[in-house]
Amino acid sequence: MATPISPSVDHVRAIAEAAHQTFASNPEGANASYIPYLAQVPSDLFGIAVAFADGTIIEVGDTDYEFAIESLSKVFTLALVIEQIGPEVLREKVGADPTGLPFNSVLALELHDGKPLSPLVNAGAISTASLVQGRDAEDRWRQILDVQSQFAGRPLVLSLEVNQSEQTTNFHNRGIAWILHSAETIYSDPMAACDIYTRGCSTLITARDLAIMGATLANGGINPLTQTRVVQAANVPYILAEMAIEGLYTASGDWLYSVGLPSKSSVSGGIVTVVPGKLAIGAFSPPLDEAGNSVRGQLAAAYISQQLGYNVFTPTA
Ligand code: GLN
Repeated sequence: MATPISPSVDHVRAIAEAAHQTFASNPEGANASYIPYLAQVPSDLFGIAVAFADGTIIEVGDTDYEFAIESLSKVFTLALVIEQIGPEVLREKVGADPTGLPFNSVLALELHDGKPLSPLVNAGAISTASLVQGRDAEDRWRQILDVQSQFAGRPLVLSLEVNQSEQTTNFHNRGIAWILHSAETIYSDPMAACDIYTRGCSTLITARDLAIMGATLANGGINPLTQTRVVQAANVPYILAEMAIEGLYTASGDWLYSVGLPSKSSVSGGIVTVVPGKLAIGAFSPPLDEAGNSVRGQLAAAYISQQLGYNVFTPTA
């Protein structure tokens, strides 16, 4: 395993290009189809961006294509809520444990008295959205959009097309919100929480944005492009721990075992991987595996981090 202490930008670019070239032709996986919008996104799109903690960015492939943020939004709403209520209250009300079950599992709730266990599965994310401290649902939504934009370093926008596609098909999530309500593990009107969660999934980002959002976490909570502090440094480890615990759903344990880095995926085919203090990899490619994670995105993130010798369980300078 190569372990350069501070890899040069050219070295990282060569590795990212090799990853793109190697995995672009991988035919495995399929677009998510339960949200109609996602089914029609071209499956051959593939972008890889690496953002360093100092703001340097490397881009290979389709890094400007705007895709739906989907479950990646869960990380940023979590960051907002940890800032507002603190990591201990978040753990008590939502949790910090793996579910071992799919991201939209109702069974996981039934098994744990309605406690979601993780803010990075649908139940936990809807509950977390209800914990955004605001006057009303619109104020909470404004804060969710604002924190996503601060992480990206540019104003993100809601896609009306994605939102329409989600809001007209999200019956399962609405069911989850009512189960949370009956278990008293949702902290606002359940349909309002489900609505702002769904809107939070319907903004558009690029692989480049995603890398910068991850680099904000890699950089201790300061966006390396805007130099704005988005999260207190003390809260970043809790966010990364939640990603390590449940970021890739049922594949989270295997991912931590083989790659050793906190990551978060989305059904749109995005995946962000954070190397604390160093950089973040944002990858996008729509076809998903059985667990709901981007096939090419995982291959690229694993390859790049392994080539660079990054793993939180390995001592690095
Ligand atoms: N909006 C999607 C949902 O609620 C997000 C899921 C995901 O990206 N895993 O099902």
